[in-house]
Amino acid sequence: MSQHRDEHLDLCAAYVLGCLDEADRSRLEAHLAEACPVCEGALRDFGGSAVLLAASVPPALPSPAIKARVLAAVRGDAGAEGGRAKEGRILPMKKRWALPPRLGWALAACFVLATGVLFTTMTRLRQDLNRARDQVQNLTRDLDSERRWAAVLASPGARTASFSLTPAGEAELRARATVDPETHRAILVFQNFKAPSGRDYELWALRGNTPVSLGLIRPDPSGRAVLRIEDIGDPAGLTAFAISLEPRGGAPTRNEPTGPIVMIGSLGG
Ligand SMILES: [Zn+2]
Repeated sequence: MSQHRDEHLDLCAAYVLGCLDEADRSRLEAHLAEACPVCEGALRDFGGSAVLLAASVPPALPSPAIKARVLAAVRGDAGAEGGRAKEGRILPMKKRWALPPRLGWALAACFVLATGVLFTTMTRLRQDLNRARDQVQNLTRDLDSERRWAAVLASPGARTASFSLTPAGEAELRARATVDPETHRAILVFQNFKAPSGRDYELWALRGNTPVSLGLIRPDPSGRAVLRIEDIGDPAGLTAFAISLEPRGGAPTRNEPTGPIVMIGSLGG
């Protein structure tokens, strides 16, 4: 589908006013053929607005005097001075008050064009408003999520694990885990986890003596990583965490580390 652009709205306005040239019209029609919802809405608005504008003018019948004046002026325009003679006391409109027909059409065209521009602007504002609403929704969702995760760290029943190095671990590795037994959520923070090239650190949960992979530790360039686990499983059976250094991509099976264990973290109360 061809991408909707702002210029399409200008083309839509001109399309409704019937003043698109051949090239622009076929360009817009090609775009409309792909059912662009923005342009379809704009066309509805523009078309509707023209009708609404016409309907918003209060209906009025000209008084007989005005009708007679207009008729007399028309007859005067037709060239014959007879109009004045025939209608007697009714004076023809003075020429200097009559709008040249072209000027009248130009004013009407300006009015319709201004309406088109107004609706183009309104459509854009509506799009901006929708975008802003989406952003607020996303931020609210992010904030809710942060609050939920902050609650893990603040939970009175939270259990923590400080990791200790095994002889196979690099001295600068640091890791810490917090588990909320109530919600089963866990947050693990890792520091200085820069794996040697071609290797990855992998996190394991130990239930009794059975390891279960919790995934790879993917640090930022400074070696820091935060792992948020939505459901760590039954916290009662969870005895410890372990970290192994695996070939790139991790161990081939979920229940068996293949590389050396570099850290162990036993869960405290
Ligand atoms: Zn479009």
